[in-house]
Formats: sequence, structure tokens, C-alpha cells
Amino acid sequence: MDVIIVGAGVGGLTLALALRQAGIPCRVFEAAETLRPVGVGINILPHAARVLSELGLEAGLSSAAIATREAVFFNRFGQLIYREPLGRHAGYEFPQFSIHRGDLQQILLNAFLERVGPDRLHTAHRCTGFEQDETGVTVCFYDAAGTSTLPPQRGRLLVACDGLHSVVRKQLHPEEGEPRYSGVNMWRGTTRRTPILTGASMIRAGWLTGGKMVIYPIRDRVDGTDLQLVNWVAEIETPNNMQRDWNRPGQLADFFPAFADWHFDWLDVPAFLRAADAILEFPMIDQDPLPWWSRGRVTLLGDAAHPMVPRGSNGAGQAILDARALTDCLATGGKVVEALLAYEALRLQATANVVLANRRNPPDAILREVFERTGDRPFAQIDDVISEQEIRALSDGYKRVAGYARPAP
Ligand SMILES: Cc1cc2nc3c(=O)[nH]c(=O)nc-3n(C[C@H](O)[C@H](O)[C@H](O)COP(=O)(O)OP(=O)(O)OC[C@H]3O[C@@H](n4cnc5c(N)ncnc54)[C@H](O)[C@@H]3O)c2cc1C
Repeated sequence: MDVIIVGAGVGGLTLALALRQAGIPCRVFEAAETLRPVGVGINILPHAARVLSELGLEAGLSSAAIATREAVFFNRFGQLIYREPLGRHAGYEFPQFSIHRGDLQQILLNAFLERVGPDRLHTAHRCTGFEQDETGVTVCFYDAAGTSTLPPQRGRLLVACDGLHSVVRKQLHPEEGEPRYSGVNMWRGTTRRTPILTGASMIRAGWLTGGKMVIYPIRDRVDGTDLQLVNWVAEIETPNNMQRDWNRPGQLADFFPAFADWHFDWLDVPAFLRAADAILEFPMIDQDPLPWWSRGRVTLLGDAAHPMVPRGSNGAGQAILDARALTDCLATGGKVVEALLAYEALRLQATANVVLANRRNPPDAILREVFERTGDRPFAQIDDVISEQEIRALSDGYKRVAGYARPAP
């Protein structure tokens, strides 16, 4: 009997590839009828890039993604607060990749089809729950529309990689409430334009109270032109929003006023936003860390295990690290139940720390400090507001929690 993986997102497909490399058979069951390139930008930090490189995916990622070279922080007046190198430019062994979620999923899917095989991917299978006994797990499915029951599938163990709305998580923790809204709404989109700053800069500007922007390129030379596909996220404190559909269209008019006067010498933000290809709206949500993930032969991975607010570029990366850790635990050849507990011991607290750091002190805490200390006014010199040492402490503190602090030379 093989490993049953529910969900063919970033976590599920990475797990399937890692299991394959370790010689452990698996099948993947995905609710969607076809895997379409949905979503917008996503980041792979160097520790997750290492895992994907060791799965032989670095060349594919390098040609599809942008190897991001610097993080740059501005206030809402366009004044530079801080810049620091990223990925290989900061001396890491592996790059930081900024990539379209659809491109990342496609790279993982192509490798899956080639190495694991198309007969091991079952789309239009919406998991509805599971039962387990001492020898295995029986997983139940509906079709994509959720109207007809499909034959149940039996496996040695079940790994739920079914994302934010995980049904397996709900079955394991029925008492848990709905995801927790952070009070910040996000509008996400992409715009085709000529390179901004270095053409590989991850820009954060403003602050959540009045409006914050995150901007970074995710594809080079779109349609053979000199244009890049540039991802952006507008984040604004908004009292209520609980509609959690990754594909929900957003309206420019709902957030544009917050950025209407952001005309900087490095970017005309209003023109940039008006030129967007498409806009999606999504609330910034997460859930309190769970006390446990594994029961018997069932466990959780990625967003199903630890949904986090996307303020540290870590959602996909932590799912990838989970996949590596779980594979290593299963590859020891010991008992399944013990392997799942060992995986949980490696990853639960580590990811809980990231969930909590993303709430309190993600990298954009630098922007919050400047916002509060200046009373949201322009500064004469940044050193009068905050020292470079303090900024570095915020940035390095987050890297330590998220597991990608660079070892001292
Ligand atoms: C459609 C979509 C768009 C997204 N867009 C972005 C984005 O633009 N930027 C960003 O940072 N993050 C985005 N994310 C989230 C991001 O992919 C994850 O935070 C991160 O990659 C962790 O991946 P994951 O595999 O745990 O979850 P996900 O990537 O969410 O994958 C979960 C997978 O499980 C499938 N699934 C869900 N329920 C069931 C079920 N009952 N049975 C079977 N399969 C099921 C889903 O269709 C999906 O393929 C998006 C997720 C989705 C599903």
C-alpha cells in the first residue's frame, strides 16, 4: 500500500517528488478537474530553494522565475529606509526565487508526470474525510462538483496537503473555529512593465494603517518583450472581510485612493496599478497553531497544517520544508505512526513560530517602526529615526525564526 496525498498544490506535489526520490510510492488526489495556473506571485526563500534544487528543479525554476537580488523598504513618501541583498546576492548557497504560483505548480507537475507518472495523479477527487484502522487508511471522495461519491481509496497513510480549507484538518480538529482574520485586506495583481529598480528588487512601502504595497517581478521578458510581469499586493487595514476565495476578483476603486498620490522617482504607483492585468482580493488570515497534526496514520502538511498570513514570503517555503522533513522520517523505514510523530516533532513548533512571527514581527515590522516613530511624516535622515543596527536586528530575527538565517562566515 502506498502513501495517499490529498491536494496537488505546492506542498502535495513537492512531497510526491521527494517520496519518489526516496523510493516510496504514492498517489495524489486533487479536487480540481484540471490544474490551472491560478494565483499570482509567490516566493521561495533559500532554504526551500535548496530542497527544490536537491529535487533537480533549480534549472526549471531559474528559467521561469526571477532570482530576487534585494529587499528594499520605503515609507509612503517614497523615501528609502533600508535595502539588503537577498538569496545568492547575500551569500546564500541557493537563490531566492520570486515566481508566479502557476509557473511553480507547473514545474512541480511536469516533474511529477515525468517521474511519478500520470496514472498516480487523480484530479476531480474532492476528499470528504477518512477512516483508519491498524493496517491503513480509507479515504473518501466526491467528484469535482461535489455531487457524486467516488470509490474510496485505501493507503498505508494519508497526508493532507489540502490547503487553507483542509477537510482533513477539520475532521482531526472539529472543535477548531474558522480562520482568524488579521484585520488587513489584500488586493493582489500583476502588471506588465519595464524593470523597476534592479529588475529583481522586492519592494515594500508604506504601512498597513493607511496602505502598504509589496511589489516584485515574477517573470522576465514577457512574450519576448523587454517587459517583466510584476506582482503587487496592496494591503490595508479593513475592519471586516471573511470571503476566502483565492480566485475572487477585486476592484481597483476599493483600494486605489490609498495610493493615489504615490508618485515616486522610482515608480509611479497609480499608473502602475491602473495598468494591472487582473486584480484578486483576499483577506489576510491564519489560524492559531494546532497542538498536534498526526493521529495514527494521518497527518497534515503545508497550509493544512499551519496557514499563515503572507507577510514573510514563507507560506510555500514552509510547505516545501515540511515535505522534506516528512519524507526523511518515512525513509527511515520504521513504523508509520512513529514516523508521523517524528515529523510532527520536527515541524510543528518550528512552523508555529513562523505563524506567530508573521503576526507580530515579519520583515515589514521595519515599516511599522518608521511609521510609528515619524508619526507617518517624511523624515530628514533615516538615521534620526532608526539605526541600521535596529533594522538589521528586525530582519535577522525573522530569518532566525523562519529557519533561513545565514550561518556566520
Ligand atoms: C487557487 C490558489 C491560489 C493561490 N494563490 C496564491 C498566491 O497568489 N500567492 C500566494 O502567496 N499564495 C497563493 N496560494 C496559497 C499558496 O499556494 C500556499 O500558501 C502555499 O503554497 C502552501 O501550499 P499548500 O500545498 O499547502 O496549499 P495550496 O497551494 O493551497 O494547495 C492545496 C491544494 O489542495 C487542493 N484541495 C483543496 N481541498 C481539497 C480536497 N478536499 N480534496 C482534494 N484536494 C483539495 C487545492 O485545490 C489545491 O490544489 C494559493 C492557493 C490556491 C489553492
